[in-house]
Amino acid sequence: MNLNAYRHKRNFDHTPEPSGKKKIKIKSSCYVIQEHAASHLHYDLRLELKRVLKSWAVPKGPCLDSSVKRLAIEVEDHPLAYATFEGIIPKGQYGAGNVILWDTGTWQCVGPPLKSYLAGHMTFDLFGKKLKGRWKLIRIKSSTRNKQWLLFKMQDSFAKPLSKYDVLTKKSHGVGAYHTLLQASKSATSKVKK
Ligand code: MN
Repeated sequence: MNLNAYRHKRNFDHTPEPSGKKKIKIKSSCYVIQEHAASHLHYDLRLELKRVLKSWAVPKGPCLDSSVKRLAIEVEDHPLAYATFEGIIPKGQYGAGNVILWDTGTWQCVGPPLKSYLAGHMTFDLFGKKLKGRWKLIRIKSSTRNKQWLLFKMQDSFAKPLSKYDVLTKKSHGVGAYHTLLQASKSATSKVKK
């Protein structure tokens, strides 16, 4: 668990993303999902483990339907400071595009978290603003360099069939300050146009 891969991909003179060198206070067991409008829109799931954010890019986003398994591609560990990051990664930089906080909260692993992660089989509870209840992340053993996992909801009182409820469209709003700013500037621009 180190941030070399994270830092190697980025030029901190040109991206507003945190280098992770500043010590910051983030509560342990933090959980976050960022909606990232890069070349392909995706959702980045991050779980704090051993003072870094273990990270997965979920192209189709999370789903509350326990019969729907979503591909989650493990990416490089991110610094804890990333848990509050929102903003625009400029063109030409790694992951260029808009990042908004889509959900924040804490997570709790059923069993020892590091052992579960290393075993590629994680069962955990989410205590987010949007996502709650029990989830699973399972590594696909045959996947290229073991980077592909499946993310899915377990059946409980927070599970909902996708045919009746899609959390991505029902709760599309961001949960951070940047999203609020964006909405404000959008409505200001539309008022000017009228
Ligand atoms: Mn991303």
